[in-house]
Amino acid sequence: MAPLYDLIIRQAKLPDGTLADIAVQNGRIAVVGDVPATARREINLAGRYYASAGWIDSHVHCYPSSPIYHDEPDKVGIACGVTTVVDAGSTGADAVDDFYQFASRAKTRVYALLNIARTGIVTQDELADMARIDKDLAGAAIARHRGFVIGIKARISSSVVGANGVAPLQRAKEIQRENGNLPLMVHIGNNPPDLGRIVDLLGAGDIVTHCFNGKPNRILTPAGELRASVRKALRRGVRLDVGHGTASFSFEVARLAIAQGIYPYTISSDIYCRNRIDGPVHSLAAVMAKFFTLGMTLAQVIDCVTLHAADALRLSQKGRLIPGCDADITLFDVRTAPCVFIDAEGNSVRGEQQLIPLAAVVAGVCLLTDEGKTSHVFDL
Ligand code: ZN
Ligand code: ZN
Repeated sequence: MAPLYDLIIRQAKLPDGTLADIAVQNGRIAVVGDVPATARREINLAGRYYASAGWIDSHVHCYPSSPIYHDEPDKVGIACGVTTVVDAGSTGADAVDDFYQFASRAKTRVYALLNIARTGIVTQDELADMARIDKDLAGAAIARHRGFVIGIKARISSSVVGANGVAPLQRAKEIQRENGNLPLMVHIGNNPPDLGRIVDLLGAGDIVTHCFNGKPNRILTPAGELRASVRKALRRGVRLDVGHGTASFSFEVARLAIAQGIYPYTISSDIYCRNRIDGPVHSLAAVMAKFFTLGMTLAQVIDCVTLHAADALRLSQKGRLIPGCDADITLFDVRTAPCVFIDAEGNSVRGEQQLIPLAAVVAGVCLLTDEGKTSHVFDL
């Protein structure tokens, strides 16, 4: 009898610890549970290795032609066990067509948040000149790339906006409203503008990235309490994204926030070639594992890069291991061994668990990660 499915992953350990078989057909999840049928290809995880919905990194930089923050989609994607990457504003209206050409050749699924500056990030101060925000060009780029451009990005910190304060953010909110209320991701950092003025402009579904940065304009007061403006924003439905990056993650801020019940909604890396190779980012898995040391469980951490990321970016076919959804799956190991994690402030924290991505399935096609290639756990 002919095999019924394209792929079956057998005896997969799910993040909640239960076991299941996962059957895939025509790029979609077909069954999660007991699968008595056969498939063209089977991978047996023997109850030892984990499978989750494919990891989504909601903040990366992977436009290879970017002069500052460049990388390649498959190096920050598949090689790291990430099935979907979302480039956060490397390109604006001027270069997004070129980026789309690159992105469509990658094995990793790539989406873009369009920088509200038409230039994207070609210099550090893309929003210091308001003339770079052209609403017509942005709207046309969004319309031209529906399904690729899934949101917009505005970097609102002193080195980016210069003397413009929150004026670029007001313009971003207009672009958002005029283009079907797309998700808006806002980068925060040094002031001015003051964080309170930024978050006061944000509403339900808007995303604050670099949420646990350790700069003076951070989400906590000098006494370590959550700022009242941020608390109000969270009540309105504003979401916190990690966006670790080179200079935007402090263990201390994360620890104090989590102690007050303030968890990240999404965990993302803000990875590009330099912080991937030299640290402190290395990979999404390395960023995720830092949250074990902050008391989050495996299931909570995985939710942040699957269900929550899909929800925040309105990728309704992704982030879930349920029949009918895209067959994007990450296969990984949780390795227990003493390790040291370093944040973006140079502080280190000791941990006990690391996440080792072994393979990534994208639309039913199974590919080995860098660790998968060297560890030979699976032969594909
Ligand atoms: Zn940023
Ligand atoms: Zn970034």
